[in-house]
Amino acid sequence: MSGIKLTGVSKSFGAMKVIHDVDIEIEQGEFAVFVGPSGCGKSTLLRMIAGLEETTGGEIRIESEDVTRKEASKRGVAMVFQSYALYPHLSVFDNMAFSLSIARRPKPEIETKVKAAAEILRLTDYLSHKPSQLSGGQRQRVAIGRAIVREPRVFLFDEPLSNLDAELRVKMRMEIARLHRQIGATMIYVTHDQVEAMTLADKIVVLKGGVVQQVGAPLELYRNPDNMFVAGFIGSPG
Ligand code: ADP
Ligand code: MG
Repeated sequence: MSGIKLTGVSKSFGAMKVIHDVDIEIEQGEFAVFVGPSGCGKSTLLRMIAGLEETTGGEIRIESEDVTRKEASKRGVAMVFQSYALYPHLSVFDNMAFSLSIARRPKPEIETKVKAAAEILRLTDYLSHKPSQLSGGQRQRVAIGRAIVREPRVFLFDEPLSNLDAELRVKMRMEIARLHRQIGATMIYVTHDQVEAMTLADKIVVLKGGVVQQVGAPLELYRNPDNMFVAGFIGSPG
C-alpha cells in the first residue's frame, strides 16, 4: 500500500521556482531519506507534505487520500523538530502531552499515550524532569515522543540530529532506526549527511536544485548511480 505519493509537485516563492515537478512514491511503513546539499529543497518538500507550506503545483497523497489542500492538523502527519524546540518550563510529561492537551483529549488517554511513548523511548524515569535536567540525547527523544503520542500515519524528521555532537548523532541514528522497527510507521527523514542516509534508508531520494536526481535503495544508488552528481554524492566509484 502507498504511504505517500507525490505527483508533479512544484513550489515557487514569488517568481522563484524551488521545487520542480517532483514524483516520489513511498510505501506504507517505509523509511525514506531525502538527501542533497543545503538549499536543494529538502525542507520545503517536507513542509509541503506536512501542510506547513502551500503546494503551488501537483498533488500530495497520504495513504491514497489527496491532502494537497488539507490543513496540517488534519493530515495525520507529525514533524519532529530539533530538541531545542521543547518548552523549557514544562516537564517531560507535559512536553509530550502538549498537543493532546490542547486538543482536549481526556486525561486518562493522555496519560496512557505519554507513558507508552516514554516506554518506547526509555524516558519513563524522567517524566517529571525539566528539559534542562536532561542530556542532549534524552531531549531529542522527548522531541520524538511529542510526535509519537499523536499516533501519526507519517513521521517527518527535518535534520533532527544536526545540533548534536558526532558521537551522540550515531547513537540517536540507531535509536531512530529502532523506533522505526518498533512502530513501523511511514517515515521521511531529511539530511545532508550521506552516511546517515545510507544507514537509515529503505529508499533514498537524491535532490539537487529542487529536482529529483534518483530514487532507490542505498545499495542500488551506490552500484548504479544515474549520473555524476549521484555518484559523487553517494560516494560510489560511478
Ligand atoms: P534545504 O532544506 O535542502 O536546505 P530549503 O527547502 O530550505 O532547502 O530551500 C530551498 C530553496 O528555497 C532555497 O533556495 C531557499 O532559499 C528557498 N526558500 C526556502 N524557504 C523560502 C521562503 N520562505 N521564501 C523564499 N525562498 C525560500
Ligand atoms: Mg533544510
